Amino acid sequence: MKTTVFEKVGQVAIENVDKPTIQAEDDVIIKVVRTCVCGSDLWAYRGLEDKDDHSINSGHEAIGIVDSVGGNITTVKPGDFVIAPFTHGCGHCAACLAGFDGDCQSHDDNFSNGVQSEYVRFQHADWALIKVPGQPSDYSDEMLNSLLSLADVMATGYHAARVANVTTGDTVVVVGDGAVGLCGVIAAKMRGAKRIIAMSRHEDRQKLATEFGATDIIAERGDEAVEKVMALTNNAGADAVLECVGTEQSNDTAMKVGRPGAIVGRVGLPHEPKMDMANSFYNNTIIAGGPASVTTYDKQTLLKAVLDGDIHPGKVFTKAFSLDDIDEAYQAMTKREAIKSLIIV
Ligand SMILES: [Zn+2]
Ligand SMILES: [Zn+2]
Repeated sequence: MKTTVFEKVGQVAIENVDKPTIQAEDDVIIKVVRTCVCGSDLWAYRGLEDKDDHSINSGHEAIGIVDSVGGNITTVKPGDFVIAPFTHGCGHCAACLAGFDGDCQSHDDNFSNGVQSEYVRFQHADWALIKVPGQPSDYSDEMLNSLLSLADVMATGYHAARVANVTTGDTVVVVGDGAVGLCGVIAAKMRGAKRIIAMSRHEDRQKLATEFGATDIIAERGDEAVEKVMALTNNAGADAVLECVGTEQSNDTAMKVGRPGAIVGRVGLPHEPKMDMANSFYNNTIIAGGPASVTTYDKQTLLKAVLDGDIHPGKVFTKAFSLDDIDEAYQAMTKREAIKSLIIV
């Protein structure tokens, strides 16, 4: 089968490898129908994170068809249409029961990788996989893309809003206009935010943020952006802040735009973790966030919201590629020609 190989910084390629097989009783092998490139895949591609040359472990988001199941799998059977979250919660440990299946305590291999492939071995699958009614052919392209977003970005955006405790009437600032930030806008609206201030300097993303529910757009960055938020909120600051980038600057901005006692929900993978803790102390800022609880949110609200047509997170996929053109898909995101690159397998 074809899989994506990280050749070196700035280059991924397709290689033929053996199809994965069931290795544990709670494994499921999935035939991938659609996968995608994540902002987090780009850290290594841009050379900002160490990754071994010629390694086979790219991608972590997919929808597909169950190909075979291990002996302990009771929730899905071959032929079922499923969303494969990037997390692999067990559903019964303390973390999963508290709604933090992104931090499942039952095993130490809680994240997907190698999903930019024709087939993937999905470990600890029984509770974590999300079964979708019917078959992919029953759905429109747009709906399939929205279902794919439930493997990561929509759930991750929702996580930012949930840990930031966004509630009815809130003023929310969303830092970051990538797919996760845009999904954070959707999530803030779902949770009843009255005012959603999206930080974006790219016209295509500004448009989508507005379509998803942003009431204000701020194109500035850094301290200028902080001043803008203060001007928009009568110098009060926001009730909640969704940090969806992970850089030092984005975290700094996020910490400065909240009112005293605001919660910053962080879902951007922190790559420059320096943080001014004194500032947060004097503002009583609450810092929350981490890996998303993908299965929990999909089961609780997101799958229904997508199937009912209430939300359209699949619109973050603005360019489509075949698996053979995987490097072009990475390039399109690196050059910001695509908000998120879809891979049709
Ligand atoms: Zn991702
Ligand atoms: Zn668990």
